[in-house]
Amino acid sequence: MLPLSRFDYQAPTDLLDASRLLSQPGSQLIAGGTDLLVSMKHRLFEPTLLVSTRRLGLRGITESGGWLEIGAATTLREVARHATVNARLPALAAACRTVATPTIQAMATLGGNLVLDTRCMYYNQPAGWRASLGYCLKREGTICHVAPKGRGCYATHAADTVPALWLLGAQAELVSVRGVRRVNVSEMYHDDGMAWLRLERDEVLTRVLVPLDTRAVCHRKLRTRQAIDYAQVLVAVGGPAGRGGPWSAVISSVSSRPMYVEAESREALAEAAFKACQPLSTHMAPATWRKKMVRVEVARAAAQVLG
Ligand SMILES: Cc1cc2nc3c(=O)[nH]c(=O)nc-3n(C[C@H](O)[C@H](O)[C@H](O)COP(=O)(O)OP(=O)(O)OC[C@H]3O[C@@H](n4cnc5c(N)ncnc54)[C@H](O)[C@@H]3O)c2cc1C
Ligand code: SF4
Repeated sequence: MLPLSRFDYQAPTDLLDASRLLSQPGSQLIAGGTDLLVSMKHRLFEPTLLVSTRRLGLRGITESGGWLEIGAATTLREVARHATVNARLPALAAACRTVATPTIQAMATLGGNLVLDTRCMYYNQPAGWRASLGYCLKREGTICHVAPKGRGCYATHAADTVPALWLLGAQAELVSVRGVRRVNVSEMYHDDGMAWLRLERDEVLTRVLVPLDTRAVCHRKLRTRQAIDYAQVLVAVGGPAGRGGPWSAVISSVSSRPMYVEAESREALAEAAFKACQPLSTHMAPATWRKKMVRVEVARAAAQVLG
């Protein structure tokens, strides 16, 4: 059994109170807790104060002025079952259904998924396992086991809903004591496994806004087992937005930031994706195989967009 360390817990009802609490050292936001509690058991995060989203009124889905507004604390199951999401944004519904397992989808939130930590097989392990390797650059160590001569961290971005939301043109609303700002989901991430997120520590992701007049997008996830497992390769492919527009793809689980590529035809898109991706050994599956499967998965997704 992996015990949790001691922590305090607060569930504010006001967003500005939540932001003030988050500005204190040692505090961290918790939503469904499906990732954070595991990471705390692994001693990857050791917050002394957990600030819950539970009473902030961030749960629910509404339509307004051509946008679907999804509260950040809405569960993945609620998103996947929502009538408008299924009818107008099927790639998002599909992405929510590929996260972990149905029981986890019932707790996990969309906001938590957008803010999910990057992953690496040398890092997402219990503390004793990591200690036996001498830890790694991302936490407590001085070396990267993936690229020992490198100076960076190559942990991969693997949040299932992000590629589809990126291609759908979704925006994230962030609130702090400094005010409200909106950013495109495509601009939320850095290519750095240790500092992958462009969010201030006191900012709360409150809503995800998705335009409804969007083009056809398809989500695909390649994984070892059809449940529980994170992706070996994650892709979303979008057909041409207008007459003669390019095909585009967002590929994830192969680098610290999801990767965007576009091309004039779907055949050229699969080739461009293959050339752009340089996966490293952050997963159990060989990087060369994952690179080849990027081409296969993009081609399959493009065929599904046409279908
Ligand atoms: C066995 C298992 C398998 C999994 N498989 C997958 C998978 O295949 N694909 C996948 O994408 N995920 C997977 N997950 C991870 C996780 O379940 C999901 O990513 C989930 O959507 C996280 O949401 P949550 O509400 O539980 O987040 P939490 O665990 O509560 O929080 C995750 C992070 O987000 C931050 N956060 C949460 N809400 C907000 C907010 N509103 N504003 C700012 N920061 C916020 C937290 O501070 C924390 O850093 C898996 C987890 C487990 C345990
Ligand atoms: S890529 Fe390297 S530094 Fe980053 S988590 Fe993995 S082993 Fe650690």
